[in-house]
Amino acid sequence: MNSRTISKSSFVRGTKCPKSLYLHFFQPEEQDEISEGQQSIFDTGHNVGFLAQQLFPGGIDASRGDHSLVHEAIAYTAELIGNGQTVIYEAAFSDGETLCYMDILVKETDGWAAYEVKASTQVKDYQVNDVAFQYFVITRSGLPLKRVSLVHVNNQYIRHGDLDIRKLFTIESMTERILPMQNNIPVDLLSLQEMLKAGLMPDIPMGSQCNNPFPCDFLEFCQQSCPAEEDESEGRPASRNQDELDQFLDELEYPLYFMDFETIQFAVPQYNESRPYQQIPFQYSLHLQQTKSGPLTHFLFLGTPPTDPRPEFIQSLLLHLGSSGSIIVWNQTFENTRLREIARDFPEYSSMIEPLFDRVADLMVPFRRKHLYTPDMNGSYSLKAVLPALVPDLSYSNLEIQEGGSAGLTYESLYNDADPESIATKRENLLKYCELDTLSMVRILERF
Ligand code: SF4
Repeated sequence: MNSRTISKSSFVRGTKCPKSLYLHFFQPEEQDEISEGQQSIFDTGHNVGFLAQQLFPGGIDASRGDHSLVHEAIAYTAELIGNGQTVIYEAAFSDGETLCYMDILVKETDGWAAYEVKASTQVKDYQVNDVAFQYFVITRSGLPLKRVSLVHVNNQYIRHGDLDIRKLFTIESMTERILPMQNNIPVDLLSLQEMLKAGLMPDIPMGSQCNNPFPCDFLEFCQQSCPAEEDESEGRPASRNQDELDQFLDELEYPLYFMDFETIQFAVPQYNESRPYQQIPFQYSLHLQQTKSGPLTHFLFLGTPPTDPRPEFIQSLLLHLGSSGSIIVWNQTFENTRLREIARDFPEYSSMIEPLFDRVADLMVPFRRKHLYTPDMNGSYSLKAVLPALVPDLSYSNLEIQEGGSAGLTYESLYNDADPESIATKRENLLKYCELDTLSMVRILERF
């Protein structure tokens, strides 16, 4: 191995965009900082990988938990294979030019089988490329593989009691798909190696590869040197269709309930009657206005980890929503779907949830249809774009939490937080954020 040895992640990076691989090797200081959301995705991947090891119990971790000790891991993998170990986790291989780790390696009755674990709920094309490269490296390193498979999360699994690892994961054979790809790998590899040897940054414009299938970690560097083209909607002039806005107002029925939910997703379901990546509502904010321009009353709920928040959430919500009056939300698909899921998972509430749907009015629609638009909205109809354009005195910018993803991550962090002061601060931040979401809707409606 040498400093230009191509690892699996380098290969995938380089085939997606050679410039990204160049920057990774020669200008790593330009790499974007890892965001809270990306770190959470990495952590999820790690946790899911660890859990999937239980599908093949009794293995030994060849990396000893540290992927930076590559030479040691390769030697240990060879030693374990030589000693007759039949299940190896994080097995490492290199042929000098290439390098990879394989999540799980199993000696089955007819030979070695390799299993790569992904936290996604379906096989994606770039994951097939991952596995094709791993097969290439492992077999070139001298270990014949009978088969190679992807292990991914089964989003149809519903937890009842203890976690059922066999049902949580789906194993899909990739052997047929990756064998025909083997001839192309040396060609791609050679071109990446030549690019690195030449040491010149490839001249590649920004394009779909920058965000697909995941955001590149040199976005800021490339955006500085070649800014994205201006969104054509940004130049759109202001518009106001008062008839349509009046019609929206006419269809509302007092009292008005301005409602917003926050949710959290777990790759591995934490609660009975929940599925992988299901959005679990843990918080709502509700502003009640009895009469036009009348005073506001605020109701809220915030769950307490690790308890399943859903039963208390829906009990509290149903109590405050009453039996009549419009329920105003921003993007009704989101709130309606969460309510339908609660009705499905907790059927005892379904008869009380069902009548709510006829009362829901989606405040996002007039903005999506551009019945009210200003250039300050920058072509967007998200609440975060509409609010500063119409109600500049109300802002998220002073809040610790400024968007829903961050709210979910803050709530998730409460699961492992034992510091009462830190817990109190986080809860306060969550309450302020969600309350502003519904207050924003009150103030935006006033602009109609
Ligand atoms: S931002 Fe786009 S062009 Fe720049 S290195 Fe990444 S993928 Fe390549």
